Amino acid sequence: PPTTFAGPSPVWHPFTQHALAPEPPVVVRGRGAWLQTAEGGRILDAISSWWVITHGHCHPRIVAAIRDQAGELDQVIFAGHTHPAAEALGRRLVAMTPPGLDHVFFSDSGSTSVEVALKMAAGFWRNGGTARSRILALEHGYHGDTIGTMSAGERGVYNAAYAPFLFDVTRLPFPEAGREDTTLAALEAACRAAPAALVLEPLVLGAGGMRMYAPWVLKEMAAICARHGVLLIADEVMTGFGRTGTLFACAQAGVVPDILCLSKGLTGGALPLAATLCRRDIFDAHYSTDRARTFFHSSSFTANPVACAAALANLDIWAEEDVAGRVAALGALQEERIAPFRDDARFSGARRLGTIAALDLVVADAGYLAGIGPRLSAFFRERGLLVRPLGNTIYVMPPYCTSAGDLDLVYAAIAAAADLGTA
Ligand code: PMP
Repeated sequence: PPTTFAGPSPVWHPFTQHALAPEPPVVVRGRGAWLQTAEGGRILDAISSWWVITHGHCHPRIVAAIRDQAGELDQVIFAGHTHPAAEALGRRLVAMTPPGLDHVFFSDSGSTSVEVALKMAAGFWRNGGTARSRILALEHGYHGDTIGTMSAGERGVYNAAYAPFLFDVTRLPFPEAGREDTTLAALEAACRAAPAALVLEPLVLGAGGMRMYAPWVLKEMAAICARHGVLLIADEVMTGFGRTGTLFACAQAGVVPDILCLSKGLTGGALPLAATLCRRDIFDAHYSTDRARTFFHSSSFTANPVACAAALANLDIWAEEDVAGRVAALGALQEERIAPFRDDARFSGARRLGTIAALDLVVADAGYLAGIGPRLSAFFRERGLLVRPLGNTIYVMPPYCTSAGDLDLVYAAIAAAADLGTA
């Protein structure tokens, strides 16, 4: 193990993913918005375990579907085979997404859903005989941690670490409120060079600091792409399945992307699964007797039957329970609680979209590697709250079943944490 550490509580642990993390709590059980540790402690999951859990941990219908499917068919190769859960899920995804998104490509994580989208765009242009290869992306965007998706994303210190391996993209300025025209002009200019695709997170840039932008900007960006024949890839890995108040964020802008990436909430967060939906002609561009035109992507666990069954149960919950009502109620509770922070000088911003609320703490050192993020995380952890700020941005993105009382616990801690800022 390393012998020197810059971070807090420097305990090396063999299983943790982050070298600077303190000894991690051992979580043995999850119910609704709560986790339970091996020592019997309780942790309120205020970030839905990295934005995946939508209906709460261990929703009984999802658990039952997983059990049933696991006893019937656990896994089957999806190359040249199919199975009822994938067939049903594919059909339902096509039916519930905007018309035109007729092809579903399954994979197993948010990163692969976007990686697949980038490869679809590349193959579409290559097979069509047009040399379009450049990708456009938004400043502060995040699309995953593979080499391709890191290239499309922009996380200063992360990307710098792997810079020699990343490919070059054209980065558009984030459409800050009041400066949207700069973004639109940059997009218009970039489109004149006939790029392959624009990849973006609609309405909220998650890992880039829960930065939000207006639906009309998304609509304009989509219109510019359409005018220039540039494919629009919407990464709804985080925003999908209700997070922003509607089933998909693109709907708020009346935008139908050419390629749509889904993961996280697709299974209600219970199991890893992803789907990349696209226009039929984009995928059909890969069907040919010429094998070199094939869509070259497959992974062992593509369309895993148990994950597909969990996703079907998630869609049943959406169809049969009042999830939209729960999402609206949680949004209203979040709004009530962030409102007072808009007048709090310790915060420079407080914003919300749907179930996502974010507050920017005023700090002297705001960078991603600055000490404030780990300090805040530790502060919340000590209070039994799972809240992991992005630098100085504290956000709350809980499961839709979270109660008003549970949210009060989170916001009381945020108010107390504010003194860690400039203090
Ligand atoms: N895209 C977005 C918008 C995300 O928020 C994430 C995950 N935070 C990903 C892609 C990558 O998903 P995964 O971690 O499942 O690979």
